[in-house]
Formats: sequence, structure tokens, C-alpha cells
Amino acid sequence: MRLPHFEYAAPRSLDEALRLLAEAGEEARVMAGGTDLIVRMKHGLLKPGFVISLAEIEELRPISFDRRKGLSIGATARLAEVASHAEIKRRYPAVASAAEKTANVQVRNMGTVGGNICNAAPSADNAPTLIAMGAEAVIAGGKGKRSVPLDRFFKGPRLTALEPDEILTAIQVPVPPPYSGASYQHLSARGRVDISAVCVGAMTVFEGSTCREIRIALGAVGPKPLRALEAENLLKGQSWTADMIDSAGRKAAEEARPISDVRASAEYRRQMVDVLTRRAVLEARSMAGKRRR
Ligand SMILES: Cc1cc2nc3c(=O)[nH]c(=O)nc-3n(C[C@H](O)[C@H](O)[C@H](O)COP(=O)(O)OP(=O)(O)OC[C@H]3O[C@@H](n4cnc5c(N)ncnc54)[C@H](O)[C@@H]3O)c2cc1C
Repeated sequence: MRLPHFEYAAPRSLDEALRLLAEAGEEARVMAGGTDLIVRMKHGLLKPGFVISLAEIEELRPISFDRRKGLSIGATARLAEVASHAEIKRRYPAVASAAEKTANVQVRNMGTVGGNICNAAPSADNAPTLIAMGAEAVIAGGKGKRSVPLDRFFKGPRLTALEPDEILTAIQVPVPPPYSGASYQHLSARGRVDISAVCVGAMTVFEGSTCREIRIALGAVGPKPLRALEAENLLKGQSWTADMIDSAGRKAAEEARPISDVRASAEYRRQMVDVLTRRAVLEARSMAGKRRR
């Protein structure tokens, strides 16, 4: 498999990247780690005439935490950096866990969380947890900057809210409230190197034994990552019982829109949504009990 001919630029500033993108129009694709883009180009699935690498743009790289604004994951922060970042592991363990469960060592050392999100595969491992935690995509483009909540960012398989002249600059994750917890659960048909057949992210906030806030996001069981809103409603405002958790799992399975493909049948996926949703909400609750702040 050979790469088709294309022009290549590696600008050193975001402004320069935006200018190149605006000039080239739909002919251009931006590249973060290239672990998805280059593979798709080799398979002939994408034929951009111009590839703009973001790798040399320092301002897109940092991972930072602010006590008011929360966590910012720069668009070119690598999966391996997110998985091992001390502050993320301490304050956002489910975000680190999702990055750690993505692909294999080689891919995590090149691929980015930003690329995983922009790629918009329905199975993107980092999407469910980030959606559950209320993250936003920070975007720059010809018309300036804007932020889009991640649960409105995904439009369909490989379709996002990004305009052709826009670049994701960071992912912003709010400060987790006191007594909140999150969890990421996934299942692959062929072990760790395979893409998830089902994945679930959950975030809960508790006041005593009552669940005040909950978000559940499902991956690989629809054309884009989905919120399981009806399952959330069964648990929100309640002191959970085992029956309620079982009902929420079943409800999430009903809300899923899986298809059968090489990784799993639709029926198996639906059953696993039930199982993984129950595991995710229970782990999120247990984390909430441990996290006063
Ligand atoms: C062997 C292998 C295993 C894999 N396993 C998994 C897995 O288990 N789970 C999983 O979710 N994925 C997996 N992937 C897919 C891929 O590696 C990940 O999605 C990775 O996170 C993509 O990041 P990247 O930086 O390499 O993206 P790139 O390949 O650079 O970009 C991906 C897409 O996003 C666009 N893009 C990237 N950054 C931006 C930006 N800042 N602004 C606008 N558009 C942008 C690009 O134009 C391109 O269309 C796997 C890939 C391979 C090759």
C-alpha cells in the first residue's frame, strides 16, 4: 500500500495553519498524529491534495489544569501523555483510563485524543467519558473561536460540527464537582488491540446517598456516540437500589442503536450495553464516594 501524492506543510503557528487551511479549502486535511489519516490515505479512502500537520504548533500541545476552568487537553497531546499525566490520573482518572484503553502502545505514542475526537468514529474510545464529563471542543477558524459541547460535536460516522476551515485547538473538561465520580468501560471482540465493540462512559454526582447528576454516554452502538437519557432519568434524583441499576442497564440497551458488523452482532452489543452501563454507573458511584473534591 503506497501513499498517493500530496503536498505537505508543517506550520509553526495556529494562525499559519488556519491561513493554509482557508486557502486550500476542501482539498486540505489537517493531521495530528496521523494514525488514522495516513492509514485511510494508504487504503485509498481519503485523497487529500494537501496535508497540514499540526505537530510543530507548540500552542496546541499543552495539557493544563486550572482550578476554575478545569482541564485543557491540547489538540496534539498524545494519547500516551494523557494516559500517564499525573494531574489527569488524580483528578480525571476515567479520562486517563479511556486514553490508556485506546489502541496499542505504538498508536498511543503517536495518536492524539484530539484526533480521536475529530475522527468521529462511532467507536472512538475517548468520546463517551468526555461526553459524560461535560467536555467541550474548543475550535478556531476563519470566523474566530467557539466552543461546542462534545455531545453536540458528533454529527454521524466521521462527521463533526467542524467547518472545513476550522481546527480543534483543545478539549476542555470542567472541574469535577465534589462527590462526583466517573468511569469508562469497554469491550473489544479480539482483545486489547481491537477497536471497541461497545463502550460506555458515566459520570455521577452524589449528595449523601442521592444521585444529583448523572450522564451516561454509549459508544459503538449507533452512528455517533449517544447519551442514554432515559437510563439517566431512572437514576437521577434517586437513592439507587439494585433493581434501579438493573432497570437503567436495560433502558440504556433499549436506547442503543447497534448494528451487526465484523466486531459483534447487534444483539450481543445490546446485551453488553446493559452489562457495561451497570458496571460504569456502579464504578462512578464508588469513585464519587472517594472524592470529596
Ligand atoms: C492499529 C490501530 C489501532 C487503533 N485502535 C483504536 C482504538 O482502540 N480505539 C480508537 O478509538 N481508535 C483506534 N484507532 C484509530 C486512531 O488511531 C485514533 O482515533 C487516534 O486517536 C487518532 O488520533 P491521531 O492524532 O492519529 O489522528 P489523525 O489521524 O491525525 O486524524 C484523524 C482525523 O481527525 C482530523 N483531525 C485531527 N486533528 C484535528 C484537529 N485538531 N482539528 C481538526 N481535525 C483534526 C484529521 O483530519 C483526520 O480526519 C486505531 C488506529 C490504528 C492504526
